Amino acid sequence: MTATIIDGKAHAARLRARIADGVAQYQLAAGRVPGLAVVLVGEDPASAVYVRNKARQTLEVGMASFEHKLPADTAQADLIALVEALNADARVDGILVQLPLPKPLDELAVVSAIDPDKDVDGLHVVSAGRLASGLPGLVSCTPLGCMMLIRDTLGDDLGGRQAVVIGRSILVGKPVAQLLLAANCTVTVAHSRTQNLPEVVRRADIVVAAVGRAEMVKADWIKPGACVIDVGINRVASDVPGKTKLVGDVAYAEVAQVAGSISPVPGGVGPMTIACLLHNTLQAARSRSGLAAE
Ligand code: NDP
Repeated sequence: MTATIIDGKAHAARLRARIADGVAQYQLAAGRVPGLAVVLVGEDPASAVYVRNKARQTLEVGMASFEHKLPADTAQADLIALVEALNADARVDGILVQLPLPKPLDELAVVSAIDPDKDVDGLHVVSAGRLASGLPGLVSCTPLGCMMLIRDTLGDDLGGRQAVVIGRSILVGKPVAQLLLAANCTVTVAHSRTQNLPEVVRRADIVVAAVGRAEMVKADWIKPGACVIDVGINRVASDVPGKTKLVGDVAYAEVAQVAGSISPVPGGVGPMTIACLLHNTLQAARSRSGLAAE
């Protein structure tokens, strides 16, 4: 078998086009465009690239982008004061504080200061609680992107499927597992203490790998025909001396011979993450304006 490739780049482009239409409709209904505020503290080059991409794509779908760049030695109280000002700013529907924050800033305290109704990254404990309780709320972007790819590939009815999520982080593993459970899958969450991991993964109709270990998931772990979503981003040495390349947590070439569908790295889950941030910002704007979710 050769797996269908799940093209996250194309899916994200279609999602952004739908969001742009949604922004235009929102503007007609609300008399303003949705706004996303992104806060970057310090000079981390990878974070600076993410923030630039987020701002560019925010503007491309017609939303307002508010960028706040603060020095690495910003005091905790000043950062929280900025978050509180953004909470109170009617033009701002979504607030994202780019993580990781430089030490000694307290990430939990900063994220907890965000108004949960503007928590477009879905990392506030209230957002996690709403998700776990089955209440409407903002879902963190990478897990939401995984679910969109799974539904696009397998259809909306996932009821009764066996899903194995490898990884239990607050950022990816746990929320993906909650979303699969809400979609009526039978969910197993594996982690570093799981015994016989290949055997556990072999049960799965849907595998989500969110570990951070290059090409850990092998072909003989995969049930023939399974849908494999690779969240991992790992930089490894390439065949070209001195150059590196990105690979996922799944041994792509061999797993693609067994799986029914597979998301590549790069070009799978990654492009969905920013598109889902924009989706969440539009949903937050609609909800704050008393409009139904789309
Ligand atoms: P974390 O390091 O927070 O979590 C990793 C998880 O993997 C932990 O639950 C850990 O278990 C588990 N784990 C580690 N080693 C093993 C092992 N040998 N067998 C089974 N489970 C193991 O990572 P994140 O969840 O934040 O990210 C996971 C990956 O996804 C990373 O590569 C990251 O770069 C990528 N990522 C990609 C995004 C995207 O946009 N595409 C966004 C976010 C993350 P335990 O809890 O027991 O320690």
